[in-house]
Amino acid sequence: MKAAFTALSKNLLNIIFPLRCAACKKDLDAMNDFGVCDSCAARIRRLPRPYCERCGRSIQSADKVCGECRKTSHYFNAAYSACLYEGVLKELIHLFKYKGRYALINILSTNMIEFARELRDELLEGVGAITFVPLQDARLRERGFNQSKVLALSLSKEFGITLLDTLKKTRPTMRQNELSRSERLVNLEDAFKIKGGIDFASLKVLLIDDVMTTGATLDECSKALISAGAKEIRCLTLARGM
Ligand SMILES: [Zn+2]
Ligand SMILES: [Zn+2]
Repeated sequence: MKAAFTALSKNLLNIIFPLRCAACKKDLDAMNDFGVCDSCAARIRRLPRPYCERCGRSIQSADKVCGECRKTSHYFNAAYSACLYEGVLKELIHLFKYKGRYALINILSTNMIEFARELRDELLEGVGAITFVPLQDARLRERGFNQSKVLALSLSKEFGITLLDTLKKTRPTMRQNELSRSERLVNLEDAFKIKGGIDFASLKVLLIDDVMTTGATLDECSKALISAGAKEIRCLTLARGM
C-alpha cells in the first residue's frame, strides 16, 4: 500500500516537475532515485586493474608498484579509487559540489560502496574508523556540505564502521586543481591537524575523499592521523584523476 502510494506521488510529482537526467537531460522514469539515466550511469567507468599496491593508480605492467611510488614515499599505507575521473562522473561530481545538486549523492555513493564491497577483505579488514578530508570553514559555509564527509557517512552506514569527524584545516589553502605538482605539495604542507579528544592508538583508519589526483591531500591528512597515533591509514576516493 505504502509502495503504491509512493509510486503514485512520484508519478504525480513527475508530471508537475519532470525529472531529467543530470548528465544527458533525457526524461527520467518517475521511480528513478539517481537523477541519472541508466545509459549515463553505465558510462561511469571503474579504474582499470591492476592497481599500484601503494597509491591505487592503474598500472600496465606486472610491477606491483607504479613508477611514482618507487621514487616517493607516502604517509598512507595504501590508497584505492573506485572510478575514473572523466566524462559523466566528472560532470556529476561538479554538479554535486558546485551546483547544489545534492540528490546526486545516491549515484556517487553507490559507485563507491560497490567498489568497497568488492574489495572488502583488502580494504576494510581491521578498519576501526572512517574519517574524511575536511573543508575550509569558508568553503563549507559557501557549499553547505562537505562532499567527502557525505561519502564517508554513506560508507560508515553501509559497513557499520564508526565515522570520526577529526581532521581540521590549520590555514586556508589554494584549490589544488589550480596548482602544479610541486606547488600542490607546498600548498598543503602541515595544512591539517587533528581535533582533540580522540584516542587513535593502534587504530586502522579509512580516509575518504571525493577525487584523488597526486595524492598530496591524502598524504598530508595521513601525516596528521599518524602523528596522532593511528597505526595504519588506508585511503579511498570515489574518483581518480590521471
Ligand atoms: Zn543520461
Ligand atoms: Zn603508485
